Amino acid sequence: INKNFIRNFAIIAHIDHGKSTLADALMRTCGALEQRHEKEQFLDNMDIERERGITIKAQTVRLSFKAKDGQYYQLNLMDTPGHVDFSYEVSRSLSACEGSLLVVDSTQGVEAQTLANVYQAVEHDHTIIPVLNKMDLPSADPQNIKKQIQHLIGIPEEEAIEVSAKKGIGIEEVLQAIVDRLPCPKGNENACLKALLVDSWYDVYLGVVLLVRIIDGIIEPKMKIRMMAADAVYTVEQIGVFTPYPSPVLHLSCGEVGYIIANVKAVGDCRIGDTITSDQKPASEALPGFKPCTPVVFCSLFPVEASDFDKLRESLAKLHLNDASFSYEMDSSNALGFGFRLGLLGLLHLEVVQERLEREFDLDLIITAPSVVYKIHLQNGTWMDLHNPADMPSPNEISVMLEPWIKTTLFVPETYVGSVLTLLIERRGIQESLEYVTPTRALMVYKMPLNEVAFDFYDTLKSLSRGHASFDYEMDGYKEGELVLLSVVINGDPIHALSSIVPKTRAYEKGRAICQKLKEILPRQLFPIAIQATVGAKVLARETVSALRKNVTAKCYGGDITRKRKLLEKQKEGKKRMRQFGNIEIPQKAFIEVLKIG
Ligand code: GDP
Ligand code: MG
Repeated sequence: INKNFIRNFAIIAHIDHGKSTLADALMRTCGALEQRHEKEQFLDNMDIERERGITIKAQTVRLSFKAKDGQYYQLNLMDTPGHVDFSYEVSRSLSACEGSLLVVDSTQGVEAQTLANVYQAVEHDHTIIPVLNKMDLPSADPQNIKKQIQHLIGIPEEEAIEVSAKKGIGIEEVLQAIVDRLPCPKGNENACLKALLVDSWYDVYLGVVLLVRIIDGIIEPKMKIRMMAADAVYTVEQIGVFTPYPSPVLHLSCGEVGYIIANVKAVGDCRIGDTITSDQKPASEALPGFKPCTPVVFCSLFPVEASDFDKLRESLAKLHLNDASFSYEMDSSNALGFGFRLGLLGLLHLEVVQERLEREFDLDLIITAPSVVYKIHLQNGTWMDLHNPADMPSPNEISVMLEPWIKTTLFVPETYVGSVLTLLIERRGIQESLEYVTPTRALMVYKMPLNEVAFDFYDTLKSLSRGHASFDYEMDGYKEGELVLLSVVINGDPIHALSSIVPKTRAYEKGRAICQKLKEILPRQLFPIAIQATVGAKVLARETVSALRKNVTAKCYGGDITRKRKLLEKQKEGKKRMRQFGNIEIPQKAFIEVLKIG
């Protein structure tokens, strides 16, 4: 196909503004969904995505649209994830397109992720088409929202298209605007093959699938291809496009998006962002690729049943095939045995990974407190990255400790501004700006330590504002912090999996909260349990779970003193043994409850 008749576009939106519904409506209008296959929403196909209504893996669909000029156009749609944690996936999808549909709920207006997504689209030089969705609702306020889009984003009011994705209104107009307003792909069909590896995943039927955007040249079955960064060569077995069902094609040429199956066995060869070229006639230079995604939150996972360790290892390897954005390595803990330390892109990412392991691989897991990555300048002059609180050097070895900061953007309805400001101050936030975008909605920009959002910030914000505040963030470098290692010691044994790094000013309060929580949760034993929160040698808080006195003498009727004494003697011995092994059952619940203490 002549590339003048190709348009590649993404859909970007704040969560729930109707991205998936619009994608479905576009597919239906182009006849891509046959009735018998039709699920409620085609594009969210993982269970978790469906339940939580979020998109995690970007999907692509090729559509065919007959425009007003009577020509058929090939439209390649890339869906994008909506949540902050997955912005790296957004960026990848955007790099395969020339333009974006910006979906804004016309009853809500511009939200934090709308802005974050727009900034990314602008970075990729996209032409942006604003789409005001949910126009069927009585509370739709298109005039005001067009003003917001002009004021906050700078796109003229008259460019917005009013639609109802749900009712199928205005969809043709959107398709026509894609043809009219977006540029066709650049590139040279006769040049050496250069294809951008946008994504890869494992499919039970197809094996390893490579999603590519052809920048220059053409790719055909049986061709020998070379992955430039991985320096690996494969033979193309099948190429195809998603319509949305995988359907083989004879070739993909410059400007097109599609998949390649090449019997790829080594997962390490699929480096997202790599350039695929022809082995016979290789391109001299690789494409710019993607910014690598660096994990910002670390935590450990342990199987509840120690015998599940091998299963956990295998499951992580399989999951990693579909989500190369998390890292993992072996870890061990005195209380929890063998497990893995995971590096993740954010808290939702952690939840998704944990949920998928539990659901798809049927594993029960204990997760430890998430920790951000600290940079420590040691007295001996060297720097270290601290991924695990358990590895914290002693305070006299540390000269400076830095923690990661973020820049956050929040949209908050006026009613909740006061309580959100209080929350931000509590979390060491520093105001950059506060502006009312409408008389009833404030836009706040704050800087704060990532540590403060890594735990429960998102949930707290949502409940404070009854779900009405929206929030997004980007990393903003490292700053010095006064931080200490808060350890939890149970009957003299430090439980590494419960230790965390906290600002010095909050250590006392948090230590007390943890001790109280553990006192409630730890089951009583035959001996007393001493719970302590410590910083270095200093005990900040202490609680005791009193011993359960087994009434062993109750069975001895009458006055058989010797028998009674014997029993008591035996019980004491039991106590000793238990203590000696530090044999305290810490229920899984205790870990989770302690993690919830921010
Ligand atoms: P996404 O998170 O951006 O993918 O949003 P969804 O497409 O999942 O839509 C979020 C919710 O809004 C769903 O309950 C949809 O049914 C609803 N929705 C989407 N488009 C419309 C629309 O045009 N009108 C109305 N009334 N509801 C819509
Ligand atoms: Mg969706």
